[in-house]
Amino acid sequence: MSKINRKQILEILDGYDKEDITIATLGSHSSLHMFQGAKAEGFRTAVICEKGREVPYKRFGVADEFIMIDKYSDIVNDDLQQQLIDMNSIVFPHGSFVAYAGLDNIETIFNVPMFGNRDILRWEAERDLERKLMIKSGIRIPKKINDPADIDSTAMVKFPGARGGRGYFVANSTEEFDQKIDAMLKRKWIEEEDIKDAHIEEYVLGCNYCIHYFFSELKDEVELMGVDSRYESTIDGLVRVPAKDQLDIGADPSYVITGNHPVVMRESLLPQVFDIGDKITETAKGLIPPGFNGPFCMQTLVNDDLEVVVFEMSARSDGGTNTFMNGSQYSYLYFGEPLSMGRRMALEIKNGIKEDRLEEIIT
Ligand code: AMP
Repeated sequence: MSKINRKQILEILDGYDKEDITIATLGSHSSLHMFQGAKAEGFRTAVICEKGREVPYKRFGVADEFIMIDKYSDIVNDDLQQQLIDMNSIVFPHGSFVAYAGLDNIETIFNVPMFGNRDILRWEAERDLERKLMIKSGIRIPKKINDPADIDSTAMVKFPGARGGRGYFVANSTEEFDQKIDAMLKRKWIEEEDIKDAHIEEYVLGCNYCIHYFFSELKDEVELMGVDSRYESTIDGLVRVPAKDQLDIGADPSYVITGNHPVVMRESLLPQVFDIGDKITETAKGLIPPGFNGPFCMQTLVNDDLEVVVFEMSARSDGGTNTFMNGSQYSYLYFGEPLSMGRRMALEIKNGIKEDRLEEIIT
């Protein structure tokens, strides 16, 4: 199927009443502050909601309209798209929106104007594209180990699609890699043909910081909006068990995200933080025009050499933005008032309308 025609999206946008825009997204992931922020900036909000999941949006009073669907795949139905267009909707994508609407569908059949760059979403989803962007940017990432036979220090092994779940493990040698692969095969977590897809990289011993940036296309500048760190099961539970008992439990650590907490980084790390944001946005402009447009997140580990090592990115609003629904220490510095990522997104739309530049920030 061919890619969405940008001309068609701009024609739809052209037909919108700019005084009567609705901000719409799927009720999930990081949508609460998107709706709250959009309302604070004077927009109407519409939550697309699977039946039975509407409670938080009703109880927090953040949605003006409820568009109920029976199943997530209905997001890309022609009728639903038309309903959104009739409401002059601009969609704010987030992780669940992308997962449930489907990346292919967003690229080929979802015609509703979106804030951000719909083409960059694939660069987050595919590890090779993500690495290409990061390598070209010249930012520090974990070193890749091309062959299990080359494992001679602690390595992290990741299987595609596992995203921290049961498909990740740590290996200190080739023998340990082989043993753990055998165990996974026995448990049927992987099949024989999956082994070649194992991505092996340097294990970065350090603390986790997920850095939330906002790239303003209108200002041509990266802003640091907030930082969170993650609670992951079972790894964060395991470190609460004494070392002796950890061995007795024999548990294989997994890295399933269960929550986030806000953090600030050592102030002397901030030059590196801005440097990463500047480099990645500059490279993205050339590789995937118009590049990052709006929120994105670099997931990092900081080692004791004080290197900020980026192991993953989100090319849209990341779930960790929920740690600063009322603004973060950093977003406060820019705006002198609490400002969430969702409100920053709505502000960009408002400025785009005011400056008659909305089409630059819509895809
Ligand atoms: P991801 O699915 O890539 O977001 O990773 C899930 C978790 O695995 C991260 O939050 C880290 O705790 C851990 N992790 C991922 N990559 C590495 C690495 N190279 N070194 C150490 N820990 C890692």
